[in-house]
Amino acid sequence: MGIIRDLGETYLAGNYRRFPVAFVRGQGTRLWDEEGREYLDFCAGIAVCALGHCPEEVVSAVRDQVEKLLHVSNLYWTEPQARLAQILVENSFAERVFFCNSGAEAVEAALKLARRYAYLKHGPEKTRIVALENSFHGRTYGALSATGQPVYWEGFEPLVPEFVHVPPDDLEALREVVDERTCAVILEPVLGEGGVIPLSREFVEEARRVCDARGALLIFDEIQTGVGRTGKLFAYEHFGVEPDIMCLAKGLAGGLPLGAMLAREEVMEALSPGSHASTFGGNPVACAAALAVLRRVSSPDFLAEVRLKGEALRKGLLQLCERFPEKLKGVRGLGLLLALETRIPASSLMQALFERRVLTTAPKPDALRLTPPLTVAYREIDAFLTILEETLREG
Ligand SMILES: *Cc1c(COP(=O)(O)O)cnc(C)c1O
Repeated sequence: MGIIRDLGETYLAGNYRRFPVAFVRGQGTRLWDEEGREYLDFCAGIAVCALGHCPEEVVSAVRDQVEKLLHVSNLYWTEPQARLAQILVENSFAERVFFCNSGAEAVEAALKLARRYAYLKHGPEKTRIVALENSFHGRTYGALSATGQPVYWEGFEPLVPEFVHVPPDDLEALREVVDERTCAVILEPVLGEGGVIPLSREFVEEARRVCDARGALLIFDEIQTGVGRTGKLFAYEHFGVEPDIMCLAKGLAGGLPLGAMLAREEVMEALSPGSHASTFGGNPVACAAALAVLRRVSSPDFLAEVRLKGEALRKGLLQLCERFPEKLKGVRGLGLLLALETRIPASSLMQALFERRVLTTAPKPDALRLTPPLTVAYREIDAFLTILEETLREG
């Protein structure tokens, strides 16, 4: 591999472990490297490219917007931002939207809103935030403090005070820890970086109950699960539980950087003018892209198709589990956010697939994560399963 990797290795921060490939073009579920080799993409930019690479409607919405207006800041109104807020509100529990540029920023906004709401409503003592062990909420200090995986903390402490973690699905621990000093409980309906682990319905319902009982806000981090990924527009719909605040990012703008923090009106009122802000947040180009994504993904027919494709992929994976019981354990996840549970190291399976030009991720040693574009074709699912079968067979 040539100049791109050389430049990167010379000049970029060394904080990423990258695959030895540089991509120059993408279309749908396919990517091409600088030598013109084709890859099948079941990573999709870490669950970001919801409609695949360079989808026509996103490209044309971005092209139109780029020719009109790139940026003005939030000192002024812009149409794409206002219309995107409207479509998000009309399709969710929420009544108000704050835009930012990434997942971590959406989590920061949610944590700050929860603290400020409690401060205004209950006084300065109600500051504790309950999060889950094995969760992931991002890398900025607030989000990192919420993240329940000490490996991400190493060398960065002290963290933000007043965060406590409980094991996922431990109803007892949750009841015990949420008290009058708790201002919020934050959770991912499906723990994504934690290895694609859906929470139990009982646990999510209990989180709602204890929050209501203690006057705490319930925050869902749907940065990975939102925007159709699980076969519903938002994963909370699977659980029959509505949060007070929700974070979105990843798939929201189909590949452009955009984050959003949504809330009920009475909650969002705590962010009075000047209390929180972002210079770039809700940029017109990113919002134009997100409008195109949401117009497609919010359709019930599109979401039904995501569920069917998710079932097709799950079924194929379960058949492989039966054929290779010494290597595979099972399948977990929802919709097109799936993990193949492995007995062999998932990272070695990911490597072997990469050598066959198939992209996947391995968030945990026993979890090979599959997050193809929501537009993946059935024949691409079949092609993936065939190559996975071959990889398992040949070791
Ligand atoms: C990816 C992710 C984040 C962080 O998003 P960034 O855009 O990388 O800051 C936060 N929470 C969840 C659940 C995520 O999957």
